[in-house]
Amino acid sequence: MKILVLNAGSSSVKYQLFNMANNEVLASGVIEQIGEKESMAKIKYKKPAGDEQKREEKCSIHDHDAALTWMSEALIQSGVIHNLNDLDAIGHRVVQGGSSFQEPAMVDDYVMSEIERLIPLGPLHNPGHLAGMKVSVHQSPNVPQVAVFDTAFHSTLPNYAYMYAIPYKYYEELRIRRYGFHGTSHYYVTKVAAKYLKQDINTLNAITLHLGNGASVTAIENGQSIDTSMGLTPLEGLIMGTRSGDLDPAILFYLARKRGLTLDELDKMLNKESGLKGICGSNDMREITRMAEEGDERAQLAYDMFNYRLKKYIGSYSAVLGRVDCIVFTGGIGENANDVRLKSCEKLENFGIKIDPILNSVRSSEIRTISADDSKVKVLVIPTNEELEIAIETLEMIQKHHS
Ligand code: AMP
Repeated sequence: MKILVLNAGSSSVKYQLFNMANNEVLASGVIEQIGEKESMAKIKYKKPAGDEQKREEKCSIHDHDAALTWMSEALIQSGVIHNLNDLDAIGHRVVQGGSSFQEPAMVDDYVMSEIERLIPLGPLHNPGHLAGMKVSVHQSPNVPQVAVFDTAFHSTLPNYAYMYAIPYKYYEELRIRRYGFHGTSHYYVTKVAAKYLKQDINTLNAITLHLGNGASVTAIENGQSIDTSMGLTPLEGLIMGTRSGDLDPAILFYLARKRGLTLDELDKMLNKESGLKGICGSNDMREITRMAEEGDERAQLAYDMFNYRLKKYIGSYSAVLGRVDCIVFTGGIGENANDVRLKSCEKLENFGIKIDPILNSVRSSEIRTISADDSKVKVLVIPTNEELEIAIETLEMIQKHHS
């Protein structure tokens, strides 16, 4: 079984082709700067003998149609498929599924119209997903296509966790509530953690920390998401690369009155100019750590703020859950920044959380335990794989559809 996973954004398309017999990646790549003067298209694939080949091309790709045409031709030329009908299914990443999608959905006109209707709740992501999906359906009409939503895993949140304390009519009229994001990643690492700990996922209580350029925390009770740090949009919660995360909403009125900032300017400031970058000028945790070590005070401040916010969420979700079986670190920062893991869990022994500094310092791309033997809560590092999870959910969906 071959499943292609597409992550179409407004100016890029990322793709991965999986052999589902062994979850092997047969090919992967990205087409970037779509619609600009010069675009970049890349493919990496395995030759039948097993050695890896790469191709990169600077070319002109003016829209998603041209991007997917380049990708299909590259996949065919590389020999991983003969034609698009070789694909058993295509899985599409969709960030915002609102309240409409609690699980993946077979792509049809209705599903596409719902994704379009949800654009106001996912203005940065859903338009690109939809553009890619429409082209993909047009180019591969015989291949079943499935939409997998970042929000779906959080559809189990109770109402007292997803409601905002603003007039109820805004929930009724505009569906303003917490949706949560990164659900595919939180679900994937929860499943892997349950398997690794040899515990039934339906009994597993966990706090999963997806720490990348975007970052979020989820409280998982009996295998289900019961609270998560991102909200109506991915702006809420942790301090991120360029997003502020939690803040007093009155700051916005103050800035608008004092500096005359418009809504669009405030939106850009909070999403693109804040977070780690807003404090110290860099959104790259590697650079921030290096700068802090060299005595840069702002980098140190950004680093301390990031860890402090993270610790507050670990503490509050520990309280929400009562019993925590494991904490999982994942994402570029969670998987690699051992000092962040150590700092954010410092002095949490009373919560049953104790990291072993030696285990924590091991560099590896494998799943591993970093908590001390006498830590009540297991602390794990689990590399995430959102593309594989989308492929797995796509496969489950088409099998359900055919049965
Ligand atoms: P992601 O969005 O999951 O790709 O993660 C990107 C973030 O991971 C950036 O802030 C990177 O600086 C950070 N990152 C990647 N590798 C490392 C590393 N070895 N040490 C610290 N941070 C890292």
